[in-house]
Amino acid sequence: MPTFDLKGKVALITGGSKGIGFGMAQALGHYGATLVISSRGQEEGEQAVSQLKEEKLDASYISCDVTKKDQVEQLVAQIVDQFGSLDILVNNAGMNIRKPLVEVEESDWDQVLTVNLKGIFLVGQACAKQMIKQNYGKIINISSILGTVGMPFQTSYAATKGGINQLTKVWAEELAPHNITVNSIGPGYITTPMTKEWLSDPERSEKIINSTMIKRIGETSDLVGPVVFLASDTSAYVTGQVLNVDGGWTAR
Ligand code: NAP
Repeated sequence: MPTFDLKGKVALITGGSKGIGFGMAQALGHYGATLVISSRGQEEGEQAVSQLKEEKLDASYISCDVTKKDQVEQLVAQIVDQFGSLDILVNNAGMNIRKPLVEVEESDWDQVLTVNLKGIFLVGQACAKQMIKQNYGKIINISSILGTVGMPFQTSYAATKGGINQLTKVWAEELAPHNITVNSIGPGYITTPMTKEWLSDPERSEKIINSTMIKRIGETSDLVGPVVFLASDTSAYVTGQVLNVDGGWTAR
């Protein structure tokens, strides 16, 4: 029987210092994976590792800016050197700048695309090279419902998330012969440091809740089942898919 057990698997979670990345690291750790979390802010990253260790999880931190190819390659090399393999990638680091189309600066567009799309590409490519050598891997790209639906003020962000859903399909087909599955998770609104301020407007959050079949805003714990499923061998026949975890938002 295929199992959700991740013992013996090494997982990299980019942007694992807080929010969705941290929640997913916790989830994979509780199912037995050895965790490496990365981000740019070292202090916050080390604090996150301490919290994971308090939960008796096997975790360490490596600083890496996903937009820098040399740092990304160094990150993967260090993981393989230290742990012997890299089995699971949660390609999660991301950001958002919300503005009406007519106010989006060229620098806003460049920043969001560089982190959310170039970063996903650089990390995915470096990890895929290692996973091909191992003939095993599980890549989980973190997209958004904005990869599927449109909403105001999300020009740059929605473009990156649509791009992530597309490159997921391309990588899935290229990497299937190497026993690597590639899928995306598209969260709806989840309370994290990224969305805290945006969701603090009561009128806005009520509107969001009313647009969701399951009448509440999501929590990082809502992503536990989806990420463990896609990281484990229970999803061996699932690839190239976008799993929206959105309380039913995109189904309306
Ligand atoms: P968050 O709380 O702001 O956390 C973002 C994480 O990414 C942090 O660890 C941050 O650490 C890291 N990061 C940002 N830029 C980076 C870079 N250039 N290199 C390396 N790490 C970087 O955000 P979140 O809400 O958890 O979002 C995580 C992912 O889920 C994103 O891809 C986001 O688009 C997606 N998502 C979120 C929601 C939501 O409602 N929260 C919904 C749909 C999709 P440093 O700043 O220290 O580097």
